[in-house]
Amino acid sequence: MTAEEKMTTTTTQTAEETAARAVDNILTIRKLRTWFFTDLGISRALNGVDLDVPRGKVLGIVGESGCGKSVTSLSILRLVPRPGRIVSGEILLHRRRKAPDGTITEETIDLTKLHPQSPEMRAIRGAEIAMIFQEPMTSLNPCYTIGNQIMEAILLHQDVSKREAWELAGDMLEKVGMPNPRQVLLRYPHELSGGMRQRAMIAMALSCEPSILIADEPTTALDVTTEAQILDLMRDLQADIGMTIIYITHNLGVIAQMCDEVAVMYLGRVVERASVEDLFYNPRHPYTKALLDSIPHVGSRTKRRLASIRGVVPDPYATISGCPFHPRCDAYMPGKCDQLVPAPANVAPNHMVRCYLYSDEGEVENGG
Ligand code: SF4
Repeated sequence: MTAEEKMTTTTTQTAEETAARAVDNILTIRKLRTWFFTDLGISRALNGVDLDVPRGKVLGIVGESGCGKSVTSLSILRLVPRPGRIVSGEILLHRRRKAPDGTITEETIDLTKLHPQSPEMRAIRGAEIAMIFQEPMTSLNPCYTIGNQIMEAILLHQDVSKREAWELAGDMLEKVGMPNPRQVLLRYPHELSGGMRQRAMIAMALSCEPSILIADEPTTALDVTTEAQILDLMRDLQADIGMTIIYITHNLGVIAQMCDEVAVMYLGRVVERASVEDLFYNPRHPYTKALLDSIPHVGSRTKRRLASIRGVVPDPYATISGCPFHPRCDAYMPGKCDQLVPAPANVAPNHMVRCYLYSDEGEVENGG
């Protein structure tokens, strides 16, 4: 990396500055816009995402298909495929390092300023931020054994010999509850069941002890029994290692089971953010309420039909003035909701919502 590039990419702050800015967040996303420039027009996949990811907690991101959940994770990892790119905003990674004498230093780095293929970004991927995907077969190489693939990830980020890396790979498979872990090292992905492949992916992702694990619908392709096992495993590992997890799903039941906090996304923005308890017992945004009304409740005695959300998620190329949910919202206020985007408002401690039912403040979109 050139000296000039280095100057523009890394910001080292004093402990006071970092503490004031980061509180205890490991990641701070501000006004993030990731757009796709296609022949059909511009698809604004992320259109001003603000998100704080608390250190050592599980943050769920929930929303319908096309709301921007997966693009958020790809933006964090700087893996947005062409013709997409980050147009504006910040993704601040708050690193905390412990020196041999016990002193802790903090450093904040803006990932949007790093070139996706720069050595620094490559080192962050895997070693500091790892990801597991919905379908492990898309990430596991069918031509190499599981052992070789986990070993390769370890050798890339840790200073160990091949023999040590192989041993560590076996230890990781054991840790994620893989049956016969030493034998599985020699197997190819197609020889494993879906649940075993997902365990192998988790082992590979955790092999470098990342600070942040992004899990993008990791259990969607699994049967319910295997899903429950994988969710238990991730929760146990998270408690054990103290890692931060960003859990992306469209399934509110999984959010309730897995997460400490939750962000609800709609059309490229976070529209509500709260603790899981607050969100489930006291939802505020009409979209969140509609999502919760559309799932069955165990033990419910009423014979009420499940509600569905009116309309469909709008065309990604369309520009909607005002609140992006207004064409589908039962509480829509003409002349107000269709003017400016509602600004974020705190309705309770650690409970943010963007809706004119709670605040009159709107914000002018920039770059729209
Ligand atoms: Fe509905 Fe208006 Fe609130 Fe948007 S701002 S969710 S349209 S009430």
